[in-house]
Amino acid sequence: RLTAAISSVSGHSALDEQASLALDAVLKSVSAALLESDVNVALVKRTRDRVKKQVLPQLEELQAKSTSANQDHDPLAGNKAKQLIHKAMQPVKGKSQVIMMVGLQGAGKTTTCTKLATHYQRRGLKVALVCADTFRAGAFDQLKQNATRAKVPFFGSYTETDPVSISLQGVQKFRAERFDVIIVDTSGRHRQETELFHEMEQIQDAVEPDMTVLVLDGAIGQAAEAQSRAFKEASNFGAIIVTKLDGHAKGGGAISAVAATSTPIIFLGVGEHLHDLEKFSPRPFVSKLLGMGDMQGLVERAQEMALADPARQENMMKKLEKGEFTVRDLKDQLQTVMNMGPLSNLTSMIPGMSDMLGGAGGEGEAARRMKRVAFIFDSMTTAELDSDGSMFRDDPKDKKAIEARDKDKKGKGKEVAAKSKGKENVSPAAGDSSDGDSDEA
Ligand code: GDP
Ligand code: MG
Repeated sequence: RLTAAISSVSGHSALDEQASLALDAVLKSVSAALLESDVNVALVKRTRDRVKKQVLPQLEELQAKSTSANQDHDPLAGNKAKQLIHKAMQPVKGKSQVIMMVGLQGAGKTTTCTKLATHYQRRGLKVALVCADTFRAGAFDQLKQNATRAKVPFFGSYTETDPVSISLQGVQKFRAERFDVIIVDTSGRHRQETELFHEMEQIQDAVEPDMTVLVLDGAIGQAAEAQSRAFKEASNFGAIIVTKLDGHAKGGGAISAVAATSTPIIFLGVGEHLHDLEKFSPRPFVSKLLGMGDMQGLVERAQEMALADPARQENMMKKLEKGEFTVRDLKDQLQTVMNMGPLSNLTSMIPGMSDMLGGAGGEGEAARRMKRVAFIFDSMTTAELDSDGSMFRDDPKDKKAIEARDKDKKGKGKEVAAKSKGKENVSPAAGDSSDGDSDEA
C-alpha cells in the first residue's frame, strides 16, 4: 500500500492537485501504520504536518519528482535526534565509567545489564556488574547467574539491605580495580512510586553515574510517554533502552518516550538471551515499524554472531575457499541461524519477507520447518554428516556406501529415539520429521 502510494506521488511531473492528493494518501497510509504500531496520536499528527510543510514547498520549487525520501529533512530522524545519539556515552578504555540502570520492575533491567556488559566486553573493555536491587527477593541470584554465564565479574550481597551502601561499595571496589565500565542494576517497583524515585536519587548521589539509562518495556505501548516523563524528572536519564521488541511488541511507544523526554534510544532488547541486543538507529527502526525491512540490522546481527565465535566462522570460510561443504557445515550454519533468535526477528528485517511467509502463522510454519530439518540432521550418522550429501541419492553403483549407511543407522536409531523423547520443546509437527518430509530438507 505504501509503495503504491509513494510511486503515485513520484509519477506526477508538476505540482497539480492530483500530486497533492497523492501526497495526502501517502501520509494517511504512513500515519495509519504508525498509529497501528502504538505511536502517540499527537506525535503522528505533528509529524504529518511537518512532512507536509517541508515537502509541499519543495514540490512547488522543483515542479517535479518526489522528495519523500529527502535525507537531510527527515522529520522522524531529525538533526536534534542525531546529535543526541552522538552524545550518548560510548565508553572508552582506561577510565572507570559508571552506567546506572533505572526502570520499573520487570522492564528488563537485570537482563539488559548483562547484555550490555557482554556488548562492551566484546569490544575489549573490562566490564563489571553491581547489584543494587535489595528490594526483590532473588534479585542478586538472578544477576549472579546471568553474570556467571556471561563471564562478567559482579558484586552484591545477600545480607546488606541498603541499596545505596551496596552500590557505593561495588562501584568503589571496581573503580579501584580499574574496570572500564561498571554497570549498576537497581531495583524497580510495579508503579512509579515516590519511594523508588527517592532511592534512585540517593544511589545517583552516591555513585555519580556517567550515564543513567532508562529501561523501558516495549510492550507498554502508549503508556511509555507518561512513564518516561516521570523517570526523566526523577533521574534525568541520558539514554533509553527499549526491551521486548521481539515477538509482538510494536515499539511505537518507544518513539513517544523519545519525543516526550528528548532523550535518545541507544539499544533495543530483542530477546531473553545474552546476544539479543541491537544498536538503535532511527531510520531502520521506523522502516521496520512500517513493515519495510531493515537490511542494515540483519547484517549487524550476522556480524555479531560471527563475533561471538570468530574461530568457527574463519574455519568455515577456509573450507568454503577450498570448495568443501559438508552436510555438517550446513547443519552448523542452520544452528547459527537458529541461534540468531526467533525467526520472526529476522524475517521482519527483510523487506516483504513477513508478507511472503503469511504473517505470524507463516513464520511459525517456517520455524517448524527449520526445526524439522534440524531433527533430520540430528538423526544422521557421522558418515552422512561428513559427506557432501551425494550419498543420499541411493546410487545403485554406490551399494557399499548405502550398506554402510544403513548399518550405521541401525545402531544410531535407538539413540536418536531416546534423545528426542527427552526434548521438551518438540512441537507435534517436529515429531513427524521421519515421514516424508525429506523433500523439504
Ligand atoms: P527487571 O525487573 O527490570 O530487572 O527485569 P528482568 O531483567 O528481570 O526481566 C523481566 C523479564 O523480562 C524476564 O523474564 C526477562 O527474561 C524478560 N526480558 C527482558 N528483556 C527481554 C527482551 O528483550 N525480550 C524478551 N522476550 N524478554 C525479555
Ligand atoms: Mg532486576
